[in-house]
Amino acid sequence: MAKKQFKAESKRLLDMMINSIYTQKEIFLRELVSNASDAIDKIYYKALTDDQLVFDKENYYIKLTVDKANRTLVITDTGIGMAKEDLENNLGVIAKSGSLAFKKENEIKDGHNIIGQFGVGFYSAFMVADVVTVTSRALGSDEAFKWESKGADGYTIQPCEKATVGTEITLKIKESTEDDQYDEYLEEYRLKAIIKKYSDFIRYPIKMDVKGQRPKEGSEGELEDYEEEQTVNSMVPIWRKNKNELTQEDYENFYFEKRYGFDKPIKHVHISADGAVVYNAILFIPGNTPFDYYTKEYEKGLELYSNGVLIMNKCGDLLPDYFSFVKGMVDSEDLSLNISREMLQHDRQLKLIAKNIQSKIKGQLQSLLKDEREKYEQFYNSFGRQLKFGVYNDYGMHKDVLQDLLMFYSSAEKKLVTLDEYVSRMPEDQKYIYYAAGQSIDRIEKLPQTEMVSDKGYEILYFTDDIDEFAIKMITKYKEKEFRSVSSGDLGIESDGDDNAADTEESGNKELFEYMNGILSDKVKGVKASKRLKSHPVCLSTEGEVTIEMEKILKAMPN
Ligand code: ADP
Ligand code: MG
Repeated sequence: MAKKQFKAESKRLLDMMINSIYTQKEIFLRELVSNASDAIDKIYYKALTDDQLVFDKENYYIKLTVDKANRTLVITDTGIGMAKEDLENNLGVIAKSGSLAFKKENEIKDGHNIIGQFGVGFYSAFMVADVVTVTSRALGSDEAFKWESKGADGYTIQPCEKATVGTEITLKIKESTEDDQYDEYLEEYRLKAIIKKYSDFIRYPIKMDVKGQRPKEGSEGELEDYEEEQTVNSMVPIWRKNKNELTQEDYENFYFEKRYGFDKPIKHVHISADGAVVYNAILFIPGNTPFDYYTKEYEKGLELYSNGVLIMNKCGDLLPDYFSFVKGMVDSEDLSLNISREMLQHDRQLKLIAKNIQSKIKGQLQSLLKDEREKYEQFYNSFGRQLKFGVYNDYGMHKDVLQDLLMFYSSAEKKLVTLDEYVSRMPEDQKYIYYAAGQSIDRIEKLPQTEMVSDKGYEILYFTDDIDEFAIKMITKYKEKEFRSVSSGDLGIESDGDDNAADTEESGNKELFEYMNGILSDKVKGVKASKRLKSHPVCLSTEGEVTIEMEKILKAMPN
């Protein structure tokens, strides 16, 4: 039988996969079980549109079977199975996802639970197995095929016998070495624990033959051996569970399992609301900025379930734009299943939920700021910009929600501070909240305009983000204090009485100023003697609302 070769780059990819993508070996089970669940979901989906096919939940399950003596772990499913070309395409081509293709072919956008999309999970089996054998019979076919591989050196496919539709994956578990333990993957208790950890809310039963001892009925203290098939996952979605029974890890696994992100979320909130509207939700604040976050491609939204059935993958109406970074899901019994997407947008219940969620998120961010400053700063570095856009957009309509969450770099503290912190430190004679805008902290520090304010001992906020000054213009005042750019014409600082720089008339340089005003007349509005300079001979200042930095940004914007 001819051995087919992996393509060259696939070999390297496979090697990478096996050795570096996953930090924990145990996740191979999560991946294989996810695939099995996807395969059953596909039949479920097909049955929705095919009258010939009846989906009777009883008949669909995933089963783990261990044979310690032969060092094999078998994962069986009653899913849709794979034809010969599926084995070739999906298991022979790395990073090709048959599940993603299935979703596309069937134009499934919403209403599915299929997990697969990256086309790499299957190969994680090679982290624990020397040989992987897949026998599969596709739905609607009476032929079955066997795919077998020892890893990087290729795979074989040949016909075989299989009585039922579905897939059976046999892993020949590696021998343990001094450095690496593999025996645990043949232990019932260990496999059970892995399933609980990663796959507890897989909607189909994951069964195992469990051996043990139990008190013999009708006897006193006598034990009997038993072996029975048990369902090891609870199948109940995590959000329906009691918060007290869930650990931080459970939430993190859910985040990962749902592919909300590959990072570790900074914070989660589990909501069980039963007021005006009844819903469960689990929301996450991600740890890192998604790579496409600040692009048009990024799509905000939460998964929306009705009674545990997913009806929308990304319900954008549940999140305001300024909290578009939030990931997670909402499940409500109050939404009826047959509601169309358009109608949902005007759904009163949905609006109530959205409002509720918005205040929960704000509450979470506030408590993070108050109690876990470091984490808040991590969050702010990732998503602070979005909050500032939120203040600026919609004519400043959301500034009240957001202004307490803003932070800027402070000249006094040399770190990010909130407006509240700034204002609470202001000396009594300080009239304004001062800020200086520029490209970087370094550059701002060299601005001549900052000298006078700093010399007065006043703190200056440094605006290094394009949006900063625009956002602040929307706020106008914070706790009764107005914002003032250090380059504004009026700094509201009283002259110290000493006359080191009198006004233009008195300076005795009247002619010089007339001359400068003359030659610069088409460049600036006027040249005046300044009281604010110390170690610099000259600086630019502005009158009115639009500062030089803002003008630069406005000019750079496409029309
Ligand atoms: P993903 O699940 O992200 O698509 P995998 O590497 O885990 O990637 O699997 C690759 C493909 O192989 C799947 O998309 C699916 O088409 C197919 N596949 C894997 N396991 C099974 C299975 N148990 N039953 C049917 N198809 C499967
Ligand atoms: Mg997969």
